[in-house]
Amino acid sequence: MAKLKIVKIGDDTLRTVCRPVEKITPRTIRLLDDMIETMRAADGVGLAAPQVGVLRRIVVIETPDEGLIELINPKIIAFSGEQESEEGCLSIPGRWGVTRRPMHVTVRAMNRNGVTFDMTGSGLLAKAFCHEIDHLDGKLYVDCAIRMIDAE
Ligand code: ZN
Repeated sequence: MAKLKIVKIGDDTLRTVCRPVEKITPRTIRLLDDMIETMRAADGVGLAAPQVGVLRRIVVIETPDEGLIELINPKIIAFSGEQESEEGCLSIPGRWGVTRRPMHVTVRAMNRNGVTFDMTGSGLLAKAFCHEIDHLDGKLYVDCAIRMIDAE
């Protein structure tokens, strides 16, 4: 595995709509492994492929409660409720913002074996699903933040 460089806000890569993964290849698996290592090294909750310069619909998420989640071609298929909370992004260091997101989100995605699955997350995981899938559409949380909180 290799740690990858995280692209920062201002780079066009973060504003591009990513293409779906058509076929899972050894390269896809290596990218997933490298994204996991990069996310863990940066102490992040999630990482999307465009954040490491790859314009494909791939996301990794890791939370204390749910553990590691890999999403290939994820889609939000249901959501409900509302939460207002702080959000940050590895591509926007030193800044946080308050966002309004659904409290419960169900995604449909493929795992690295090509198997499609549905998963419902609440709270932090619901927020992570929204944040990371937004990245695949060239959107950043600062676009929808109610207000920003800058580090001292
Ligand atoms: Zn982010």
